[in-house]
Amino acid sequence: MTSDISKPRQIGALRRHRNSTGFRGVHYDKRKARFRAEIGNRKSGNIKRGPCRATLLEAVQDYDAMARDRYGADAHLNLPGEGELRSVPIERDPGRCEYGHDLAYYGYVDPGGTQVNCRQCNAWSVKRYKQRRAMAPQNK
Ligand SMILES: [Zn+2]
Repeated sequence: MTSDISKPRQIGALRRHRNSTGFRGVHYDKRKARFRAEIGNRKSGNIKRGPCRATLLEAVQDYDAMARDRYGADAHLNLPGEGELRSVPIERDPGRCEYGHDLAYYGYVDPGGTQVNCRQCNAWSVKRYKQRRAMAPQNK
């Protein structure tokens, strides 16, 4: 596991995914009992959603179509064709975070929460944020 703070989180994000359905960009909406593809980032506002689908395969194909459209040859797909790139699920190791930090040492759970967070990843995130702030043009 290479871990380098200078690399933003996004690098490699297309290549890997972590998703309960096992497919990149596809989630299951429990309330609607439908599968749905989603591409992009909620925070940056460039998110695009596919239609609600009865089957997982349809939503998987929706994602791949949106990914081809948005990323072209850089798209990492669930069902790549010849010469296309595959998005690989992140293997879950319950003892480690997504970036390989030992959660026995770095892990913590928010009060009332169930999800284990990683202190090391949070520290990196804060540091990157401060770097971005320092580089941004000053508002005067
Ligand atoms: Zn971590």
